[in-house]
Amino acid sequence: MPSHHPQSGAPRPFRLGLIGHPVAHSRSPVMQQAALDALGIAARYELWDTPPEELAARVASLRDPRILGANVTIPYKAAVVPLLDALSPQAQRAAGVVNTVVREETPSGVRLIGHNTDVVALSRILDEEGQWSASRRVVVLGAGGAARAAIGAAREHGAAVYVAARRIEAAAEALADRWRREQAAAGEAEETRGGSTLPVEWRARAVALGDTARLAEALRGADVLFHATSVGMGSAEEAAESPISLELLAELPAHAFVFDLVYAPPETPLVRAARQRGLRASGGLPMLLYQGAAAFTLWAGRPAPLDVMRRALGM
Ligand code: NAP
Repeated sequence: MPSHHPQSGAPRPFRLGLIGHPVAHSRSPVMQQAALDALGIAARYELWDTPPEELAARVASLRDPRILGANVTIPYKAAVVPLLDALSPQAQRAAGVVNTVVREETPSGVRLIGHNTDVVALSRILDEEGQWSASRRVVVLGAGGAARAAIGAAREHGAAVYVAARRIEAAAEALADRWRREQAAAGEAEETRGGSTLPVEWRARAVALGDTARLAEALRGADVLFHATSVGMGSAEEAAESPISLELLAELPAHAFVFDLVYAPPETPLVRAARQRGLRASGGLPMLLYQGAAAFTLWAGRPAPLDVMRRALGM
């Protein structure tokens, strides 16, 4: 086990936390603290509400030997990247956004490594739930940080990805970013720098959310629909909202799986409507669980107690 991983019952009071702004709503502390306690790791998981002007100092504070690492959430998943020493290959491919930071001790000093366990989580959900047709198609609603994790997981499963966003340019840019990263990972970065060489078949998969006809066409051949906009998260009023007309779910094939990244409420209008149509559907709690478990394993150097974490989330 690498030296930066904590031993059970170690006297050192380690700390971990969530960096974001705001963070008070987060369910990570209850889940992560339950896991730490279950394995007897002497560490506290805290909420580190960080205004923008304090972000650099907050990230620098992670180099302290009493810190095991951190989670990162809105609005800093991209902003922390230049403050870290390196990204894991998966985070690098997944649009260069980070939701987990691991503090590593190496012979040459402390290194802060950024990971993206949102991609790990969504990939695991596709392993569990995805039923693939020959055309392997995923439709992602939204083009922000979580949507990019969904695009990453879908691409790890070899799917053709359609992105529908309220601004079609944002959808196209999310696809172009992923495509450039895949080219760079394949060692062709020099030839493909910039968006101008995005293949036409990729460009054609950017859709405006308001373009019902094109969205319906994309959904008709989809194996999986991810909802990754921020619509519907939060208050009861917002929770009644859906990013698309629920009638559009009729376009999905019978084997399609609908995954809504929104986890509060646990059953969103989109999930309810999909189930009413006989489709398999899930709210975002499994993603919260799996991204947290993957982060825990990185920090602690041992398997996360998944059942303990699941119970802590009331699942
Ligand atoms: P983000 O980076 O702020 O992106 C939000 C996306 O939603 C953008 O594409 C934005 O479009 C779009 N959007 C916002 N309001 C919209 C509206 N009224 N109609 C259509 N599109 C709208 O946020 P994020 O980090 O990607 O998070 C997105 C959602 O995923 C949040 O609800 C978050 O809680 C959830 N999430 C869940 C988990 C989990 O573990 N289950 C993990 C991560 C995130 P514009 O660019 O045009 O504003």
